[in-house]
Amino acid sequence: MPVSQKIHGMLSRSSWIRKMFEEGLLLRKKLGPENVFDFSLGNPNVPPPCEFKNALTEVASQSLPGQHAYMPNAGYPETREAIAAHLTQKFKVPLKFEHIIMTCGAAGALNVTLKTLLDAGDEVIIPTPYFVEYEFYVDNAGGVPRLVPTKKDFSLDLEAIRSAFTERTRAVLINSPNNPTGRVYDAETIKELSDILEEKERLYQRAVYLISDEPYNEIVYDGIALPSIMEYCRNSIIAYSYSKCLSVPGERIGYLALHPELAELEDVLGGMILCNRILGFINAPALMQRVIARIQGVQVNVGEYQRKRDLLCEGLSACGYSFAKPDGTFYLFVRSPIADDVAYVRALQQRGILTTPGVGFGGPGYFRIAYCVEDATIIKALPGFAETLQEYQN
Ligand code: PLP
Repeated sequence: MPVSQKIHGMLSRSSWIRKMFEEGLLLRKKLGPENVFDFSLGNPNVPPPCEFKNALTEVASQSLPGQHAYMPNAGYPETREAIAAHLTQKFKVPLKFEHIIMTCGAAGALNVTLKTLLDAGDEVIIPTPYFVEYEFYVDNAGGVPRLVPTKKDFSLDLEAIRSAFTERTRAVLINSPNNPTGRVYDAETIKELSDILEEKERLYQRAVYLISDEPYNEIVYDGIALPSIMEYCRNSIIAYSYSKCLSVPGERIGYLALHPELAELEDVLGGMILCNRILGFINAPALMQRVIARIQGVQVNVGEYQRKRDLLCEGLSACGYSFAKPDGTFYLFVRSPIADDVAYVRALQQRGILTTPGVGFGGPGYFRIAYCVEDATIIKALPGFAETLQEYQN
């Protein structure tokens, strides 16, 4: 076998999201692109803000000494300064440039964090449903995921999290606004979660970190205020990406922000900077670092996603589907009318509709619709959603 047994095993249970995306390419050939409605991938379709293009043009036309050279592995100090100033306002915690490490997106940030924190066999608590790559990231660092179901409305089940702790628990990994459910955790929940972490730290005499994966931080609806994790939790690490807020996932730019009072701050920072290097990233892309330093606080028009959410939710609810209306992100997690969500996703596929089965997110009995698509795609897919449901109801 040309690949290791481990990777061979991973390939077979590799991401459903990618699988559906690839099947979509085949379906386009079979049915014609106009008859395929692809809701499989969270590839943002709202265009990047004009400030991004302007900053990119300006930066690309500059001629500075060493602008393409290696840099400190944590990134350009001026970019980290700009982010720290922005986050100090936003998170209501005084951050300095040394608390920020530039990364290759949130994916890079999470891998760097887990490799820094975990010894082989250390456990990471992950509420389900969850972004399925987490399992691979934890494995990359030799850790063990401890999957803990959320409540019926996808809010955190704090008692279940409390019970999942062992002396090997090193971190809790949360994601709010959540992929795939769109759920936002409120301030009260974060505060209680932080209390649990402190309780367990006292019990096990070991630091436990709250890793908050926040690539959808700005994509919230109906005036909901996302609580600042750092305000409530001293041992918090934020993994952020510009992929969704600027619609630039191909550019691979994000950061890690560490609470200034984090346990063993200097060691963790040093470890992360080393891991950014030895995981092979070396540093986050130079050009993008210079761009985002100029446009802190700029974001896509979130109103467009909210309009799409409303269009989809109204349409599907009129068909008879049931779901919890998302607070944010551009995902809708819909209850499958039959227990076998994979079979239901296949049935939708027969009508050219590509979604992702909930089982791929540790949430069987549901399917995910990524509605970062043209309004017309939503409108044209609704009859197919209705017919598939009717087929199973009769
Ligand atoms: N975390 C979550 C919850 C995501 O949905 C994604 C991407 O879709 C990532 C992390 C990775 O983000 P990026 O590709 O920007 O690194």
